[in-house]
Amino acid sequence: MGRLAGKRAIITAAANGIGRATALAYAREGAEIIATDLNAAALEGLTEEGISRAVALDVRDSAAVKELAADIGAVDILFNCAGFVHHGSVLECSEDDWDFSFDLNVKSMHRMISAFLPSMLEHGGGSIINMSSGASSLKGAPNRYVYGASKAAVIGLTKAVAIDFIKQGIRCNAICPGTVHSPSWEARVAALGEQLGSYEKALEQFVARQPMGRVAKAEEIAALAVYLGADESGFTTGTTHVIDGGWTL
Ligand code: NAD
Repeated sequence: MGRLAGKRAIITAAANGIGRATALAYAREGAEIIATDLNAAALEGLTEEGISRAVALDVRDSAAVKELAADIGAVDILFNCAGFVHHGSVLECSEDDWDFSFDLNVKSMHRMISAFLPSMLEHGGGSIINMSSGASSLKGAPNRYVYGASKAAVIGLTKAVAIDFIKQGIRCNAICPGTVHSPSWEARVAALGEQLGSYEKALEQFVARQPMGRVAKAEEIAALAVYLGADESGFTTGTTHVIDGGWTL
């Protein structure tokens, strides 16, 4: 029997990268999964791979989040994975950039948790997993000004939810990865490659900041998300799970 047998999970940003790898890992572990993403086309094909439902959802749209929560009812696992990496220092971050990053990286979690927590509480509890990053309150990373600020806020939000509902069966943990191979990461390497005049040089820079000499596979982060969703992590709440190949060492 799978480690998530009998559990229902909803995942945001499940069409690509860590969200997609987690949806597939959850399916292998026996969970019923509602995979959501802004990009409906990219969700296509997931239902043939054991995902129960694939639904278009923009986590920046409060009405759509509420509507989906009313439609699907209680879940055992809520994985807030959606996020965006803004490149630049404070000097390259406009007010619009700031608002966009905080809306997508932090307020989306507020929307999802506000919408899904009441039914989780009625249902007797559940596990909330929030995607943070090593680039947060844990580590300053160059040109990750608003990204780092927003991912630090995710850690604060995670601890706040964890303490408020600790007696009611709700656990809330954050995942803090180092660099992970994903479509948006490939785009970041390509963009830096344009600046440096060489894709290989850009790749070298990204890999060089990882002490293990490689970036993570999305599946390695998904394995942690399985653990945090499963009952075996039942004594774990309010934590920041660093999974970074030694980046924050
Ligand atoms: P990705 O960035 O390649 O894909 C992200 C997905 O998010 C896409 O499918 C996109 O359609 C979806 N998305 C974008 N805006 C959305 C919205 N408004 N509503 C719903 N979905 C939306 O995937 P990734 O690199 O695995 O990143 C996933 C999460 O992991 C992000 O929160 C990211 O900050 C975090 N993270 C990534 C890395 C990394 O190196 N890749 C490291 C640390 C943390």
